[in-house]
Amino acid sequence: MTRSTQPTEFDVIIIGAGAAGLMCASTAGYRSKRVLVLDNAKKAGRKILIAGGGKCNFTNVKVEPQHFICNNPHFVKSALARYPSSDFIELVERHGIDYEERDHGQLFCQHSAKDIVDMLLTECEWAQVDIRLRHEIIEIERHNSGFTLATNQGDFSCASLVIASGGLSMPKLGATPFGYKLAEQFGISVAPTRAGLVPFTLHDHDKQRFEPLSGVSLPVEVSAQNGVKFVRDLLFTHRGLSGPAALQISNYWQPGESLSINFLPETDALSLLEQLSIKKPKQSLKNALARVLPKRLVETIIDDSALQDTALNQLSNAQKALIEQCVHAFQFKPNATEGYRTAEVTLGGVNTDELSSKTMEAKQVAGLYFIGEVVDVTGWLGGFNFQWAWSSAVACGLGVR
Ligand SMILES: Cc1cc2nc3c(=O)[nH]c(=O)nc-3n(C[C@H](O)[C@H](O)[C@H](O)COP(=O)(O)OP(=O)(O)OC[C@H]3O[C@@H](n4cnc5c(N)ncnc54)[C@H](O)[C@@H]3O)c2cc1C
Repeated sequence: MTRSTQPTEFDVIIIGAGAAGLMCASTAGYRSKRVLVLDNAKKAGRKILIAGGGKCNFTNVKVEPQHFICNNPHFVKSALARYPSSDFIELVERHGIDYEERDHGQLFCQHSAKDIVDMLLTECEWAQVDIRLRHEIIEIERHNSGFTLATNQGDFSCASLVIASGGLSMPKLGATPFGYKLAEQFGISVAPTRAGLVPFTLHDHDKQRFEPLSGVSLPVEVSAQNGVKFVRDLLFTHRGLSGPAALQISNYWQPGESLSINFLPETDALSLLEQLSIKKPKQSLKNALARVLPKRLVETIIDDSALQDTALNQLSNAQKALIEQCVHAFQFKPNATEGYRTAEVTLGGVNTDELSSKTMEAKQVAGLYFIGEVVDVTGWLGGFNFQWAWSSAVACGLGVR
């Protein structure tokens, strides 16, 4: 690194003014650390602003380690215990932010996600954190007492360097592989990354089959081949499957695998048809099923399978078995996912075996820390990803030297 002037010195430099970076900055700042946050974007917290449809699902009432996917399922425990969702809720309340609980314990801002960004920036201001945007990191060097960073706007040095640069999802919002590359520069392994919490696309031969269903939404139980299942709403789109059920299961789906969809998770289809056939024996199968399922879905299921639109009192055992399969275990084979373009998160990332679960410091590189989405920790849909950002950030902010 060639340099004309002395680098500006800080105790802690955090790369990334997103959820984890801002939270870590104020936590370290309150410990009287001189903290600098650098980001190449024009605005801080861009993902927070668009999260949850602009209302930011900032955490969940109930956050447990099993809500996270990670090579080492124990890794998240310490940080989540040290800074649980109740602590973040208390912070939100202290800032007078109105919020509401939606289904599955999800907490959203009542007015705008901007309230959360403003809260984080206010905390940073109170903790005297220096935030500098539009800074491109050109090079990072490690030396005896820490790190020196060359940027397009001058050089900076620090004792502790925190990487909070996020994952690869939504490149148009400025996502970059910066954190993974830096990990590799320092010999820290990175678990393979892929898009998570993401809609599915259809094979060409399925496009025509499912086209009439575009816009249909209903609660289903969706299962991946490894047995993981979720009961949430599923949305058919012109591209494939979306909605919370599809996003949740995408974290557990591997290319080439099928999904099994139970369109009536609360009702046994055959018992229902039996009851109906006593009252209305001549009713058609389509009309009977359309009492409990969207009509367009029933038509597609029946027209698409070997099922005939038989009267209820004429159903053969073979047809009943087929109904059972089509309604309760419909096999759907996605072509792919929509990828990082629309994914909410990135699965994989900096290998947790390389990090201290107490402080997020790299075990082999003293003074280097990784927090938030860049780490191989991915939460379910429902506010868990932000909670990981907050918890890992606080663990680090309290631990940085
Ligand atoms: C559309 C969408 C909706 C979402 N909704 C929710 C939700 O409601 N609830 C939930 O829990 N999670 C949600 N998520 C996931 C959540 O946004 C992330 O898990 C969270 O933002 C991760 O925080 P982070 O600080 O690690 O990364 P980010 O918030 O992504 O912040 C990373 C920061 O690093 C900066 N950066 C990147 N590369 C560089 C570089 N080379 N140099 C300098 N700076 C760099 C970026 O500009 C950014 O400011 C959503 C994600 C998306 C895409």
